[in-house]
Amino acid sequence: MKKIKSKKFKKSKKVAVIDQNQCDKSPFCPVKRVCPVGAIIPLKKGEQQKKRSIFGFLIPKGYRVDEEKCTGCGICVTSCPMQAVSIKA
Ligand code: SF4
Repeated sequence: MKKIKSKKFKKSKKVAVIDQNQCDKSPFCPVKRVCPVGAIIPLKKGEQQKKRSIFGFLIPKGYRVDEEKCTGCGICVTSCPMQAVSIKA
């Protein structure tokens, strides 16, 4: 009798993605504040081209999603005023 091999499907995880062209990189980013797990973090050092200074405070230029922390809940998608966040599977 032949054994039938079943295909292994890799379970894909839904994560948020930030479109850097649409993001206004505001220091008061509402998306960063609403994320329940703190998955919205500043861009990596290599990705940060400049830092802007507002009232003497240096702020990161842009944000990214920590895919390890992101649960794909989608709260950030509805809270972004620039529609820069989407969920990818
Ligand atoms: S999908 Fe949920 S967990 Fe992921 S970054 Fe957005 S708010 Fe945070």
